[in-house]
Amino acid sequence: MTQRDHDDLWRDFPRTATEFEARFATVEDCRAYWIEARWGDKPACARCHSTRVWTERGGFLFECAACGHQTSLTSGTLLEKTRKPLKMWFRAVFEISTRRTGISAKDLQRIMGFGSYKTAWAWLHKLRAALVRSKREPLGPFVQIDEALVGGKGGPHKELILVAAEADGRVRLAHVETNDEATLKRFADGQIAADAHVVTDGLASYNSESLGKRAHDMIVQTKAERRERDALQGCHWTISLLKRWLIGTHAGAVRDKHLQAYLDEFAFRHNRRKTKGVGRIAARVIEQLVARQPLPMRKLIDDTRRCRWLASTQGLAA
Ligand SMILES: [Zn+2]
Repeated sequence: MTQRDHDDLWRDFPRTATEFEARFATVEDCRAYWIEARWGDKPACARCHSTRVWTERGGFLFECAACGHQTSLTSGTLLEKTRKPLKMWFRAVFEISTRRTGISAKDLQRIMGFGSYKTAWAWLHKLRAALVRSKREPLGPFVQIDEALVGGKGGPHKELILVAAEADGRVRLAHVETNDEATLKRFADGQIAADAHVVTDGLASYNSESLGKRAHDMIVQTKAERRERDALQGCHWTISLLKRWLIGTHAGAVRDKHLQAYLDEFAFRHNRRKTKGVGRIAARVIEQLVARQPLPMRKLIDDTRRCRWLASTQGLAA
């Protein structure tokens, strides 16, 4: 699909709950939008890409006239094997996109009328996966980096995260084991432009090993100096907003092993805080639901390694 088509889909997406109810009133409305987001025009065979397909099962299955392969509306996407109607997914996408601070699994369970908390939790994690873009621009040209301790459900134990913040711009967050040179290097190389100018505190592992050839100001400040002019203000603001969000929206109910998924959602929202029009965000989420690989429950639960994206080409929410 061309960029032009996607822009049209964005423009077409409803901005208010009333508009949403009208635009996606029927299963057919959702199906038509999904087909356009996935194939642009006509459904195509997943095996041979022929668009000569027979529609079956009320338009949810397509049998290829050329090779006989059957392609379902959701196979090969994040919604593969879902047993719930597309209309419910669209509603959930709308909810997660329109609420400025996001939504907890408990709230989603209530809104969607799910019998179990586990279903709501799994839906939110799939939607979070859709917030993670596969391509992202590295941060620059001026980037602050800092570390922080957050979370730690039901105990004194805290989790270490790395924060990178552009001056009044985008942020990236990573849940990490340590802040040694190797970890910082992976973070910097994955998230920060090679020619960016970096500001850090006095931690010794911020050096040419971890930051490479990037220009680097190491600034050690007293509390009084920080009050006057905080050299890492972007990071410090981000960290305090993040802590408030984890406690406010999620009531602190974030397991350590899923922390990265929450950091991704936070970064996604933070980086879009000035985006006008929730329709654009919701349309982007649906676009990613279509574009990303299936995520079975087992994988959803297990794929929670710290900094799992640090070593991969998979991007963060950006
Ligand atoms: Zn085929």
